Amino acid sequence: MAKFDQRLHTLQQRIHRACLNSHRNPTSIMLLAVSKRHPAKAIETAYSKGLRHFGENYLQEAVDKIQQLSHLPIHWHFIGAIQSNKTRVISQYFDWVHTVANSKVAQRLNDQRPDHLPPLNVCIQINTSKEKTKSGIDFEQLAPLAQTIFQLPRLQLRGLMTIPAPSDNLQQQRQPFQQLYQYQQYCNQQNYPHSYPLDSLSMGMSNDLEAAIYEHTTILRIGTALFGKRAIKQDKEDI
Ligand SMILES: *Cc1c(COP(=O)(O)O)cnc(C)c1O
Repeated sequence: MAKFDQRLHTLQQRIHRACLNSHRNPTSIMLLAVSKRHPAKAIETAYSKGLRHFGENYLQEAVDKIQQLSHLPIHWHFIGAIQSNKTRVISQYFDWVHTVANSKVAQRLNDQRPDHLPPLNVCIQINTSKEKTKSGIDFEQLAPLAQTIFQLPRLQLRGLMTIPAPSDNLQQQRQPFQQLYQYQQYCNQQNYPHSYPLDSLSMGMSNDLEAAIYEHTTILRIGTALFGKRAIKQDKEDI
């Protein structure tokens, strides 16, 4: 699949250049391949080129692919909206959840995480766009939610995640990412019961990855730049 090789090469060049410009080590950044709306075959191709972390948004579609690819040691990340009746399946099938935005969901993921699996890695999703429709919490709700998660033994709070409003301007793109970095610093300076340092920032997609790299991202969530355009989501396919 020569097209995939080309896209991966171009993407790696972009990441490398942004890392050079910001004096960052590319190995400090995880490339999370967002494979939603692409078939298991596309994931196998990406896997064969060395990618190990894959992100999915739609639960039924994700579980189908996870089962098809169970022979591969892939780290699966859930990056879609979470309905609380889906937490059991999420806690069974995934290694990471990027979109935790309330304590009820956190508590359920904790309680439902199977004993034979390590603690589930989670990020708190922050709404940096101020749009009512975007999911994630406001800064004011961060401290209480983080404190709740620190107390949950089957969850490991890794960091913060955001999906900003789209922009084609680098300076505009940097603002929400800079905010997220500051929130992470803020959390790490508090002394909550059972707290530990947050080591992750899940931010940056195909169109704004350079801005995210400049602002200390540790996880780039890349779909289009790796797999090309996606098919339109059909709601009936999801559980
Ligand atoms: C789809 C999606 C991505 C990937 O977006 P691209 O622009 O295709 O790179 C990243 N993060 C989340 C939460 C997504 O839903």
